[in-house]
Amino acid sequence: MKKKIAMYWGAGCGGCDVSLLGIHEKLLELLDDIEIVFWPCATDFKYEDLEKMPDKSIDIAFYNGAIRTSENEEIAKLLRKKSKILVAYGSCAIEGCIIGLANLYDKEEIFRAVYLENETTPNKEKIVPKEKAGELELPEFLPHLKVLSNVVKVDAVIPGCPPPKPVLIEALEALLSGKTQFGKSVALCDECPRRDTKPDKIEIDRFYRWHEKQDDGKCFLAQGIICMGPATLAGCGGECIAANIPCTGCMGPPPKVRNQGAAMLSAIASLLGEMDEEREKEVIESIQDMVGTFYKYTTAKLLPKGRVKDEG
Ligand code: SF4
Ligand code: SF4
Ligand code: SF4
Repeated sequence: MKKKIAMYWGAGCGGCDVSLLGIHEKLLELLDDIEIVFWPCATDFKYEDLEKMPDKSIDIAFYNGAIRTSENEEIAKLLRKKSKILVAYGSCAIEGCIIGLANLYDKEEIFRAVYLENETTPNKEKIVPKEKAGELELPEFLPHLKVLSNVVKVDAVIPGCPPPKPVLIEALEALLSGKTQFGKSVALCDECPRRDTKPDKIEIDRFYRWHEKQDDGKCFLAQGIICMGPATLAGCGGECIAANIPCTGCMGPPPKVRNQGAAMLSAIASLLGEMDEEREKEVIESIQDMVGTFYKYTTAKLLPKGRVKDEG
């Protein structure tokens, strides 16, 4: 019996949908074992088709992208009802990813920045989208971006932005053989091609952004370039580092780490070694865009109801 598979693209860039094609000939092999019953991005399925399916008739549903609109939320609930296994596919679905940084702002601030103050989008008439215009109804833009597990029970996750090829192949093989637990549990440094040059202590005057310093081929942190490897789940094989780019943490934290940014700050603090307080402050303050660096992928998961506003 072929497994019935569904794939849905919520709020995201579409890279996760495309990543399935990135497994190349492996996809052809898997196609022998599966039947695609719903994949609006690739084939002409309508939501009514999904509604008509009997409950639990889909073996595995993959949800990629986050939940930003009422439509995303409705389809997440529908897929949950119709599927035996629901998988959060990619960083947006699991922890909100880069678009989850929007949870630092409220809906009004986002609309103002996107539609009214955006220098590259002329909008003299000051038009902003409405949920209802005449006959036309648009889905509601929710007050905050949610991740899939905020809305429905999730059975398995495939991390990454998008999931790297080795992670995806392992996950698909496991899921098709009925397993929902797979992947590694250690940090990326363990499998990094530069791991032999990772020091116990680093001697630096300041931190640099990647483009500000000539790469000497050693561990990025030893060079004072932020690399999220110590606080990021292994599995990709260090594919960015193999291309001489520091890790930005797209696989999310290892299983026992709840707060990837705090874990990374703690790793940096232990690497810095002894220095006087003022010097330490200078070095730490040389890190630019703390939230965008340490919480690039996990802001929405940690702030499902937006930022905590200062009340005095
Ligand atoms: S996880 Fe990354 S690749 Fe996938 S939809 Fe989100 S932004 Fe795009
Ligand atoms: S900090 Fe980055 S470059 Fe250094 S060993 Fe870890 S993953 Fe590799
Ligand atoms: S090196 Fe880091 S950013 Fe690059 S794919 Fe691996 S986990 Fe993601």
